[in-house]
Amino acid sequence: MSEILESGGKRQVLAEVDVLVAGSGPAGFAAALRAAQLGAKTLLVERFGYIGGMMTGAHVVAVLGMGDGSKTGPKVGGVLTELRDRLEPLGGITRTNADGDYWLDPELFKWQGVEMLREAGADLLGHALVCDPIIENGAVRGAFLETKQGRVAVRAKVTIDATADADLAFRAGCACDNQTHDVTLGFRLVGVDSARLEAFSKENPEQAEQLLAEAKAMNNGRLPGQGWYLKEVDVTDPAALTEAENRFRRDCYAALYFLRKNVPGYENARVADTLPQIGVRQSRRIRGGYTLTDADLRESRHFPDGIARLGSYLLGYALYGVPGLHYDIPYRCLVPEGLEGLLVAGRCISGDYLATNTLRLIVPCFATGEAAGVAAALAVRHGTEPRQVEIGELRRVLSQHGVPLDWVSVPPSAEAKKATPFMDE
Ligand SMILES: Cc1cc2nc3c(=O)[nH]c(=O)nc-3n(C[C@H](O)[C@H](O)[C@H](O)COP(=O)(O)OP(=O)(O)OC[C@H]3O[C@@H](n4cnc5c(N)ncnc54)[C@H](O)[C@@H]3O)c2cc1C
Repeated sequence: MSEILESGGKRQVLAEVDVLVAGSGPAGFAAALRAAQLGAKTLLVERFGYIGGMMTGAHVVAVLGMGDGSKTGPKVGGVLTELRDRLEPLGGITRTNADGDYWLDPELFKWQGVEMLREAGADLLGHALVCDPIIENGAVRGAFLETKQGRVAVRAKVTIDATADADLAFRAGCACDNQTHDVTLGFRLVGVDSARLEAFSKENPEQAEQLLAEAKAMNNGRLPGQGWYLKEVDVTDPAALTEAENRFRRDCYAALYFLRKNVPGYENARVADTLPQIGVRQSRRIRGGYTLTDADLRESRHFPDGIARLGSYLLGYALYGVPGLHYDIPYRCLVPEGLEGLLVAGRCISGDYLATNTLRLIVPCFATGEAAGVAAALAVRHGTEPRQVEIGELRRVLSQHGVPLDWVSVPPSAEAKKATPFMDE
């Protein structure tokens, strides 16, 4: 690849804040909410026009892992409870289970999440891409944003990278691991005449099976409208991500036009829409003061700097593969190696590949976001770096906000052990 020199230049300082949060997914939302509630002047910056990350952009609405899979154990609290209580009276919780898990209405989250931020005093700036960190004396002190009006700067005492891909930490020079996991693009199919399809399948079972199998073969084993996974996509490479998204469309339409032509019931089927964002499961993970391992989760290890105690565990795509866990996420996983002024929250915290399969769930992302928000506010209050935040105070403030930190799991009941695991789809 050839190179070209870009001219630098002065940038307008759009804002000077205590806490800048980059990315408004579960982690960034929770971080900004808590930091603002604790009195820090907070700005949340999001590249799209709505908040919620994968929860709204890819319709990941199942908030799973609130408990430990036993149905009787304690439940995660904090921002996750505040959000549920906020949406429930509006009809925004569409399903719950005995473990405290809930399914939410993504459109109501977009609306009410912004209201919650506003009430907490946090400012939100959408349609702005957080690009490079501002680095002063080895510490991150805000970031440059790319907007339609040009490149601007936001100065901050503490910056929280909740971009899911560790964009800021990476550009600040933090060592990162980058391993992929499957990506998925959601399609909404309409116009299938199911009565006609059923009648055809009943009268011609073998032919129907054969035709549906042919269609599935064109779309990676799934009928159009059913989710499937594309492997080995480096989601930090725009060309690879573009090709993945196009591939989902190409295969879906190939199967759809085959079905429209050959299978009664599908004549008027069409794709009503695809979800706004391609679903990304894993990418960069920072190297922090501690790297949480899969063994730490499976063996329910506790840490003196635990900022969340959780019981969910994802085995492949099945949640609660090992019920009865109660592991800690240490604060050090949020603090990047060798960088001051910066915290990382969400799926890009410091964990090994297998542990991250669990840490990327919505509940851990909220939990690390909430802890980062509290830690940032405390660092600002005491005029220290996030690394120096006093753990006792951090844990105390989290507890005061309803985050349970010291429970141990009850052994799962025979009934819970038999329970069908939820699928991460
Ligand atoms: C298909 C699929 C199904 C899943 N199913 C489940 C499930 O059933 N249950 C479950 O618990 N979890 C599930 N997950 C996992 C979960 O949804 C995500 O891991 C979680 O949302 C990650 O949260 P996050 O805050 O770290 O990042 P994200 O949700 O990805 O949010 C990151 C936010 O940052 C913004 N952003 C990124 N870069 C920048 C930038 N440079 N500048 C400004 N803004 C930026 C993004 O636009 C986004 O809003 C699923 C994931 C996928 C993809």
